[in-house]
Amino acid sequence: MIYTLPPLPYATDALEPKMSQETIEYHYGRHLQTYVDNLNRLITGTPFENVPLETLILTSSGPIFNNAAQVWNHTFFFNSLSPSHTEMPSYLKDLLIRDFGSVDLFKEKFKKATIEIFGSGWAWLAQDKKGKLHIIQESNAGNPIRAGYKPLLNMDVWEHAYYIDYRNRRAAFVDNCWDLINWHKVASRMTEDITVAEYTDLEGNRVDVKETVTVEIEEEQEEEPAETKRNMERYVCIICGYIYDPEEGDPENGIAPGTPFEDLPADWTCPACGVGKEHFEKER
Ligand code: MN
Repeated sequence: MIYTLPPLPYATDALEPKMSQETIEYHYGRHLQTYVDNLNRLITGTPFENVPLETLILTSSGPIFNNAAQVWNHTFFFNSLSPSHTEMPSYLKDLLIRDFGSVDLFKEKFKKATIEIFGSGWAWLAQDKKGKLHIIQESNAGNPIRAGYKPLLNMDVWEHAYYIDYRNRRAAFVDNCWDLINWHKVASRMTEDITVAEYTDLEGNRVDVKETVTVEIEEEQEEEPAETKRNMERYVCIICGYIYDPEEGDPENGIAPGTPFEDLPADWTCPACGVGKEHFEKER
């Protein structure tokens, strides 16, 4: 399947002044085009070549995942905007009130989520399998369909989304972008009779991911569990017997859960007796 740049549902200058024509020309015309071109180049001649975009997102990793997800995320983003003001349908409003307290609180929480994403990424409004709405932060090309959610709305907070118009003012971009959201589109995604893992590809074909997830996993992925296991070994302080467990980390001293012993900073010391890392050995 050769992917092509999806059609933009409005003219490149239609979102002015909140989103300038220059931004659209770069963001849609260049960044998204580059993701499309990269994806085509990366999948050609691989088992991923004739796989629907959603399946790529669910089954690939590394550069193929990054470019596939960025094609999907951007298509979804540009389709979520409209040059004309839209009123939020009442059934969407009711669910936002149910799950966030009020529409204003939802906006506040969503905006906070966009601002707090460190570096590049996406904020999402997505529905879980029981229909509950969630605000989800994803780094880089992240997409909540990998965790079983149905996306309703996303907001691009990569710098390329706002730097031309807003420079470093991400919050101002989000405020202005908010007024461009096509709430009819957002709400229609909720009521479409589709499962979480079923979506249309860019050519408008319905895709049932459940039937197509039979992609061979690349060899490099097989090595990951062994690597993870090695790094997650527990270490014992030979002075006092304290055990460093990577799964727990050492949050009181700024070490996040999931930090391998090898990755502890050189000046990290035993939280129980204060000696350095050199006094630790692998738990036997
Ligand atoms: Mn972008």
